[in-house]
Amino acid sequence: MNKRLIWLIMKGILWFEEIDKDDIDAVGGKGANLGAMTKRDLPIPPGYAITSKVYFDFIEEAEIKKKIEETLADLDVEETDKLQEASDTIKKLFLEQDISDEFNELFSKPFDKLKNGNNELNVAVRSSATAEDLPEASFAGQQDTYLGVNKENYVQSIKKCWASLFTARAIYYRENNNFNHMDVGISVIVQKLIDADVAGVMFSKHPSTGENQVLIEAGIGLGEAVVSGSITPDTYLVDPGDWKILNKEVSTQDFKIIRQGNTTKEIDLSKKEGSQQKLSDDNIIKLAKIGKDIEDFYEGEGQDIEWAYSDKLYILQSRPITTIPEENEEAQSAQSMETKPILKGLAASPGIGAGTVKIIEDASQLDKITSEDVLVTTMTTPDMVPAMKRAQAIITDEGGMTSHAAIVSRELGIPCTVGTGEATTKLSDNEEVTVNGKKGVVFQGIQESMVEEETTKKSHEKVARSALITGTNLYVNLSSPDAAESIAKRNVDGVGLFRAEFIAAQIGIHPQKAIKEGKSEDWSDKLAEGINKVAAAFDPKPVVYRTLDFKTNEYRELPGGEEAEPKENNPMLGFRGCHRNVKSRRVFELELKAIKKVRDEYDHKNLHVMLPFVRTERILKKAIEIMDQNGLARSKEFKLWIMVEVPSTVFLIDDFLKYVDGVSIGSNDLTQLTLGVDRDNQNLSELFDERDPAILKALEFVIKGCRRNNKTVSICGQAPSVYEEIVEFLVKHGITSISVNPDRIEPTRRLIARVERRFLLNNMREI
Ligand code: PEP
Ligand code: MG
Repeated sequence: MNKRLIWLIMKGILWFEEIDKDDIDAVGGKGANLGAMTKRDLPIPPGYAITSKVYFDFIEEAEIKKKIEETLADLDVEETDKLQEASDTIKKLFLEQDISDEFNELFSKPFDKLKNGNNELNVAVRSSATAEDLPEASFAGQQDTYLGVNKENYVQSIKKCWASLFTARAIYYRENNNFNHMDVGISVIVQKLIDADVAGVMFSKHPSTGENQVLIEAGIGLGEAVVSGSITPDTYLVDPGDWKILNKEVSTQDFKIIRQGNTTKEIDLSKKEGSQQKLSDDNIIKLAKIGKDIEDFYEGEGQDIEWAYSDKLYILQSRPITTIPEENEEAQSAQSMETKPILKGLAASPGIGAGTVKIIEDASQLDKITSEDVLVTTMTTPDMVPAMKRAQAIITDEGGMTSHAAIVSRELGIPCTVGTGEATTKLSDNEEVTVNGKKGVVFQGIQESMVEEETTKKSHEKVARSALITGTNLYVNLSSPDAAESIAKRNVDGVGLFRAEFIAAQIGIHPQKAIKEGKSEDWSDKLAEGINKVAAAFDPKPVVYRTLDFKTNEYRELPGGEEAEPKENNPMLGFRGCHRNVKSRRVFELELKAIKKVRDEYDHKNLHVMLPFVRTERILKKAIEIMDQNGLARSKEFKLWIMVEVPSTVFLIDDFLKYVDGVSIGSNDLTQLTLGVDRDNQNLSELFDERDPAILKALEFVIKGCRRNNKTVSICGQAPSVYEEIVEFLVKHGITSISVNPDRIEPTRRLIARVERRFLLNNMREI
């Protein structure tokens, strides 16, 4: 063990000047950063860390450690009530424990030194966890920050910070990620609070374009006014090449926020005060330089920085910018405008793919497709999936955003344009084309520069895919087992909707026909194989399998379907969903058998079940009865969800929740049934909008109901994959998880992180 480590282990208090960036074990990530930035002469408000040694000593001496271990020993973290109870018990242990004289002395000395006789001085107390890979975002809310701390509540704030290591969510996270609870330490950071005259945020790169420009936002008073968006700040744009101010927009601010003890207060500003330039030109340049210095410190990664000006400039926080758009998007669109497309269709799966056209009339010609080719066909079918996987891109004549080609190519990550109307007639075999699946267009020839930019973008995305973790879980919607392995490697917490219809179609026979012909075993085994691929790829992350929800018109497409299915006028409102599970019991039982096989024989206990299109409590109870009789009763290890798609499940959410562990909102059907708009009717598409106030009200109502009943609530319809404002709305209202299409994984993760962060800051302001 090196000398420094021994010294660190011995020290209870470390001033920022004494801390190195590698001292995470002693002072946590936050503390180490503050130390390293102080050492780099960045203007960090002074402070110190009460090291993790003190925390470990305290829990040992006060015998809290033993009690924590006992409380957590047999805890099943999936049982929400028990988990919360354990968390409360542990927090109480900390808060009610007396502090010995030695500890009191240890805490008071640096506190007095920092105050330096100034009793007016405001101090912030924050926690800083020591496990390096603890997700900052999901923990930030739990590990607390106390502002305006004085001598009276100082020690209690330290205890609260320690206790914040045991919120229900933190315990749950550690259990699921195999962290030993007792190995994770926590340091407490005590820092001078800056009562800002002017404050705001600064982006070391332009947050919307990613350009090398420093953007500063400034407002009078505390920075919360700017961060929370409650005022329009001044904005200044600085060119870091020659340190010139490129643009200045001075706004008029009506009020400012100031600190008063441990709360804040709004004060009106006169027109004269509010309309002045908030930060002088000199300070704008000084601040921009500090911003670039911090960016260098973080090895060139663009930073989103909170700053304040009191007697001088101070840096309060810095984190990576999460809003920079996908690289070169602008450049790509500019280029697309110059080169005229030869075909236009729907943008079904984003990305650029170029290659040689191979027109496929039916599955017998699939051998034609090599990894150099662009697959062109009227419409893809399930048996084309292996060839689709090989292709550079896919173009179809027919189909919409939810057609087979669109869904499968999104999942496989292959650029795809559907519904061109004339691809198979206008293009000919062996001609070269470039497909832009994000814009839904096709260009003649191989457009080298577009392809090159796409390659660069992908390599950037790989880096950006690193471990951004959020408190709200991010799930993916999945249908094709072939796509599972690569998607499972991405930054996603599981499968929130595993649609079984694709596998069932690929089996190539209507299940009733299979039963009639004595092939039911084979049908169920094939289904199990498909399910197993997905469950295995994601294990131990949860995979929520939704039982079949073909409508009769879709079932009719399967071989044997014509005889088995009734002709219905309104298949959307017809023989489908949970009701069908119950009435077509033998098929449902074949599905259950397949699920059981994957859980028991293949041992993938991460597989859970969700029932679709639930209409009444009676039918749900019936379906559950059948599940119980088939060995799939709800338990600690086996979760049952229902989809909330029919308004009855919204209105009666409390009743339905009695039978399940959670729900997932199927916003596609829910929108259709709430607004009375056929989701497949192109002529009504302008009416089909999930942002309608009625839908938002339903979402809020369901989330509240689930929270009230301590059940999980997710969403798996298209809405969050299409509308960022819906993601924001859901996160703000406390949804447990969001499930999106594979192409939206990374942007949605970034967006959730951004919303959570903003939300936490607003909460902090209330504290
Ligand atoms: C939904 O209705 O939102 C949903 C996810 O189910 P599907 O689109 O498969 O009907
Ligand atoms: Mg649905």
